[in-house]
Amino acid sequence: MKTSNHELEEIFPKGQKGPSDFFTGNAFNIGLVQVDSIYTTAVGNVYFEPGARSNWHTHPSGQILIITDGKGYHQIEGQPIQVIKKGDVVKCPPNVRHWHGASPEVGLQQLYIVPNTENGIVDWQESVTDEQYSIK
Ligand code: MN
Repeated sequence: MKTSNHELEEIFPKGQKGPSDFFTGNAFNIGLVQVDSIYTTAVGNVYFEPGARSNWHTHPSGQILIITDGKGYHQIEGQPIQVIKKGDVVKCPPNVRHWHGASPEVGLQQLYIVPNTENGIVDWQESVTDEQYSIK
């Protein structure tokens, strides 16, 4: 996965491009553990090209992110943007508005783990504006 100045290590298949209703820029998602009634957990990989990010959203039972390559941002509403990079593990609590994505210069590869999928997986909201995305 090449970017303008950084090459990410491709671990999983790139998957499908995330729809523009839910993502700004180019983000690719592949499910790795499909939801079922035994494990009730969704696991997948997202690759964000530089500048790409999710919309604001919530997870009914929270989410864990494991960053496997690159550099990006994670922000819980009302808190400063957190810089995330390869090796970081980030928890987002249930029903807390947040977004995550790549930095402007370097892409991001992240695994997501969503528990208790019987409560739902994600509730999508509005896009993250360029102003919100820029670190002050
Ligand atoms: Mn999330």
